[in-house]
Amino acid sequence: MKKDTQCVHSGSYRDSVTRGINTPIFTSSAYEYLDREECPYPRYFNTPNQDAVVRKICALEGAEDGVLFSSGMAAMSTAILAFAGSGDHVVMMDELYGGTHAFATDEFQRLGIGYSFAATDAESVCRAATGHTKVIVIESPTNPLLSVIDIRQVAAFARERGITTIIDNTFASPVNQNPLELGIDIVVHSGTKYLGGHSDICCGVAVTSRDKAGRVRALARHLGGSLNAITCYLLERSLKTLALRVGRQSENALQIAQFLKGRERVRRVYYPGLPDFPGHEIAKSQMKAYGGMLSFELDERQLDASKFVTRLRLITPAVSLGGVETTICAPAVTSHAKMSAAERKRIGITDSLLRLSVGIEDAGDLIEDLEQALMEK
Ligand code: PLP
Repeated sequence: MKKDTQCVHSGSYRDSVTRGINTPIFTSSAYEYLDREECPYPRYFNTPNQDAVVRKICALEGAEDGVLFSSGMAAMSTAILAFAGSGDHVVMMDELYGGTHAFATDEFQRLGIGYSFAATDAESVCRAATGHTKVIVIESPTNPLLSVIDIRQVAAFARERGITTIIDNTFASPVNQNPLELGIDIVVHSGTKYLGGHSDICCGVAVTSRDKAGRVRALARHLGGSLNAITCYLLERSLKTLALRVGRQSENALQIAQFLKGRERVRRVYYPGLPDFPGHEIAKSQMKAYGGMLSFELDERQLDASKFVTRLRLITPAVSLGGVETTICAPAVTSHAKMSAAERKRIGITDSLLRLSVGIEDAGDLIEDLEQALMEK
C-alpha cells in the first residue's frame, strides 16, 4: 500500500460487535485474565487503542513493532536507556532537539553514561564513536537549523560496529523520510507534532525491529510513560490525514522559503528544499519532499525579530510545531532557551533566528502576512 492508503487503513481495529468502521475507544484499565497469555494493561503498552496506532505508524515507517508513549521525550529517553547503561558511551549531535540535548547534559553523568556531541555531518558523528559507544542519536533535518546528515553513512558505520542507531524523525515525518529503509535501527517521533497534527495532544513513539521493540517495551514498562486510550484515538484519527497534511505543508514551505530568499531584510533562509542549501543534495537522496519546517534569520540592523513577530496577523507566535496552523517561534527563547548562550552561538542559533512551522493554509495568504510584517515597501 502507498502512504495515503496506509494512513487511512493500516492498523485499524475492526469492531466485530457493531461493525462500525472506526477503532472504538477502549477505556478499560482492567481486563479479564482467564484464557489469555498476556493481559492488556495500559502501562504494559498492549491495549487495543495503543496497538491500533502502533500498527499504523509501523506500516508508515516500515517497522516490525513499536512502543507508543505519552510524549516524544518519553520515547527518546526510553529508547536511549534501553541500549545504553553505566559504563557505555553515547554519540549525539550538537544540533539535536533541545530537550534531547538537555537529557544528556543533565542526566547522563549521574547514570554513568559517557557522551560526546558531534557536529552535524556523518564524518564527525562517526569520528566521535569510541570502543564503548553503544548508541548513536541523530536527527535530520535538525531543529531549528534544518541541517541534514547523511543517514545511510551513519547507519552503515554503526551496523559494522554493532552500535544501535536512533533517529529523531519528527521534522521529516514518516511521509517524507523512512530512516529504517536507510539502515537506522530505531525511529523516534514526537507525535505531538506532525503525527498529531492539530496542536491538541502530547505523545511519542519509537518503532524498530521486533527484537529491539521488545527491549524498549521492557524498560518502558518500568518507567511507565504510557498513553491513554482517548489520546490514542485522537492520534489514530489524525494519522488518517497525515500524508495529505504533510504534502500540503511541504508544498507551502517550499513556496515560502522561495519567497523569503529574495527579501532584503532576510539574511538567510534554512530549508533543505532550496537548491543552494548546504544539505540539499543529501536531503534529495533520502527525503521524498522537504517538509513543513523552515527557519530564517532577519537582518537585525533592519528589523528586530521580536518586533517582526508582533506584526504578524495570521501566523501565531507559538511553541511546538507540526499543526495545521502556521506558527512561528524564536528558538533562542523557546526550544533552545536551556542551552547556554555560548553554545547557541557556536551552533548558529542567533537571537534573529525565527523558526516557522508551516500549516495547511493558502500559501498566498501566508506570504502576504510575512510580507506585511517585513514591511519592506
Ligand atoms: N523532537 C523534536 C524534534 C521536537 O521538536 C520535540 C518537541 O518539541 C521533541 C522531540 C520532544 O517531544 P515532546 O514534547 O512530545 O516530548
